[in-house]
Amino acid sequence: MSDCIFCKITKGEIPAEIVYEDEHCIAFRDIQPKAPVHLLVIPRKHVANLDDLTDDDRDLISHMMLTIPRIARQQGLNEGYRTVTNNGEGGGQEVFHLHFHILGGGRLHHL
Ligand code: 5GP
Repeated sequence: MSDCIFCKITKGEIPAEIVYEDEHCIAFRDIQPKAPVHLLVIPRKHVANLDDLTDDDRDLISHMMLTIPRIARQQGLNEGYRTVTNNGEGGGQEVFHLHFHILGGGRLHHL
């Protein structure tokens, strides 16, 4: 998607503080952190949100779920962290490129 801000980050067209990348996904610091450590993990492929996933994305989503704890460990989130994905406008999603927030580095409030 040419006008997607997160696609532009994956292509290096706009800057981001990337902390992890592989063939399928990248993780970078949120520009407006809501916790001492606030990362966004996104697929390189443009997928709008969970609703946009298909059976063809099984390996991709599985890879992302397995990669999130690795990134959290690399970032020193040894006491725990929260993973959130906002899905659709009613779910508070603002950027329509699938992303998992990783929040940590302090004690988070109960949901
Ligand atoms: P959402 O509300 O869609 O779940 O979360 C979008 C997140 O992306 C927000 O936390 C927002 O701060 C972050 N964000 C929006 N634009 C940019 C950007 O250009 N760079 C970075 N690093 N984060 C962004």
